[in-house]
Amino acid sequence: MKEISIDIEELGGLKITRHSDLMECLSLYHGRSISELLDADEDLSELFYIEDNPITLTVTELVDIANKQGFWGFCGDNEIHLWFNDKTDVLEIAELIGHELGHRIRPLHRTTVKEEQKAQWYGLVSRLTVSILMDVWCKE
Ligand SMILES: [Zn+2]
Repeated sequence: MKEISIDIEELGGLKITRHSDLMECLSLYHGRSISELLDADEDLSELFYIEDNPITLTVTELVDIANKQGFWGFCGDNEIHLWFNDKTDVLEIAELIGHELGHRIRPLHRTTVKEEQKAQWYGLVSRLTVSILMDVWCKE
């Protein structure tokens, strides 16, 4: 799997990097080495949402979910970091990219839940756009 890195001037020189290793991506997000992440499994958690309800996960649980869904990513200050495998559905990848780009759109919401909801809308718009384009391409 190759690393992909592109710069987007229109979004302030935003860089998008696809990582070939999920743990490398998680390590960057948490600013800790992979072994530190795994050692701190019980203490380190990640916020996720089921509908509007935040849930916490250990690193092991997060890795398990990411591996099952085939993708994970985050938006840093000037860079979006993505991990997905070669079997991941293109619509899932489109939603992931749209979601992370949504976090770059200002203003940021004051609450994490609202910010995630905003990003989710961008993700859904990306998914819908790619879905429509795929439908158009398939009819030609
Ligand atoms: Zn998000």
